Amino acid sequence: MELINPRTFLVVANLLGLLCALVLWVQAKSFPADIGGLADWAKGVVLMGCASGLASLRGLAPDAITIVLASALLLLGELFLVFGLMRYTGRQPKWRPALDAIAGVIVLVVWLTWGSHSYPGRIFIMSLAHVAFFSYAGWLVWHAQPKGFGSRFLFVTCVFAVAVASLRIATLSMNTAEADDIFDRSLIQQVYLGAFSLGILGLSIGFVLLANERLREELEYLATRDPMTGALNRRAFFARAAIEWARLARVARTQRPLAVIVSDIDFFKKVNDTHGHHVGDLVIKDFAKRAGEMLRIPDILARFGGEEFVVLLPDTGRKEALQAAERIRREIEMRRDKALPPYTVSIGVAAIKEDTADLDALIAEADAALYRAKQGGRNRVEG
Ligand code: GH3
Ligand code: MG
Ligand code: MG
Repeated sequence: MELINPRTFLVVANLLGLLCALVLWVQAKSFPADIGGLADWAKGVVLMGCASGLASLRGLAPDAITIVLASALLLLGELFLVFGLMRYTGRQPKWRPALDAIAGVIVLVVWLTWGSHSYPGRIFIMSLAHVAFFSYAGWLVWHAQPKGFGSRFLFVTCVFAVAVASLRIATLSMNTAEADDIFDRSLIQQVYLGAFSLGILGLSIGFVLLANERLREELEYLATRDPMTGALNRRAFFARAAIEWARLARVARTQRPLAVIVSDIDFFKKVNDTHGHHVGDLVIKDFAKRAGEMLRIPDILARFGGEEFVVLLPDTGRKEALQAAERIRREIEMRRDKALPPYTVSIGVAAIKEDTADLDALIAEADAALYRAKQGGRNRVEG
C-alpha cells in the first residue's frame, strides 16, 4: 500500500526545515544577545535538513554518503538543538564528550553497514541516540523559563520525538525481509517518515515560539521595571494599583482594606555630596532590596523617582501598614552592608477610609504623613 512517495516526505521536510531555519537565523540576528541558542537552533535545523536530503539519495549515491554521512549530520543537528537549548537555559555546552559520543555511534553505524550488514541494528542504535537527545532536550525545555505555550509546545514535540523513536525500536521485529532500504513501502516506514517531517517542523516552530516568549518577557520587564533597582516603575505601579482599586469597588470598603506607604531616604543629597553619585546609587539599590525583603508577596513596591519609593499593601489596614513601615524603617536603620554609609528613611502611611476619593488622594495623604515625618526629625514613621 503506497500512501505517498517517501522521497516526497523527505523533500518536504527539507524545505520546511530550511524555511524555519531562516526564521530562526533572522531572530538570532535581531533578538537581544542574551537570548542564547537561536543560532544553534538554526544550524541544527539546517543540518537535519541536509541529513534528510542525503538520505533521500539512497540508491543513487554511495552508502557512505546516504547512510554514514547522513547519520552523522542528523546526530550533529540534534546536538546543535540540544546545545541551543542549553545556552537558552544558561548552561554551558561541552563539545568534547558530545562529539566523542557521536563518533562512537557513527563507528557502530559503519560497522553495522559494512561489517554485519544489520539494518535493524542500525535503526536500533540511531533510534536509541534520538531517544537520548530528545529526552534530554525535553528535560531542558521542562525546566526552561518562562513557562508558556511555546515551551509547552516544544516539550510535547520532544515527547513526540522520543515516542516515535521508541516506537521505531519496538516495531523493529515487524520490519523484515526486504527491509534494507529506507524507502521500503511498509506502513511503518511511511508513518515514521511522516513523523520525521512533522518532527522537524514542530521543533522549529517550538523554538521560534520559545524565543518569542523570552523576548516578550524581557520587553515586559523593561517596560515595567526601574532598571537600577528592579522595582516597578511609576506607570506599572498605577496599572497594578488600578486593578486593586477595581477589586475594592466590588465589595464594601471597610471589608477590604488597602494601604499605601511612601518613603524617602533622609539627607540623601549629603550621601551623594560626601561619597559620590555612585555610592548614592548603591544606597538606593540597597534600600530597594532590603525594603522589598520586609514586604509580603502581594505588596507592590515601586520607585517613584530619586530615592522615593511607594508600596501598595492590598488587604492591609492602617495598623498593619504602620507596622510594616516600622519594620522597614528599623531594618534600614541597621547598617548591614559595611561598605555603604549608614542612612535612615522617613515613611508616611495612609489607609483607605469611607471617604477616600481615589488612589491619588490616598497617596497624597501618605505624602502629607511623610512630610510630617521629615518635619518631626526624620528616621520615623507617621500615619
Ligand atoms: P530629605 O531628608 O529632606 O529627603 O533630604 P534629601 O537630601 O534626601 O532631599 P531629597 O529627597 O530632595 O534629595 C533627593 C536627591 O536625590 C536629589 C538628587 O540629586 C538625588 N538623586 C535623585 N535620583 C538619583 C539617583 O538615581 N542616584 C543618585 N545617586 N542620586 C539621585
Ligand atoms: Mg530624601
Ligand atoms: Mg527625595
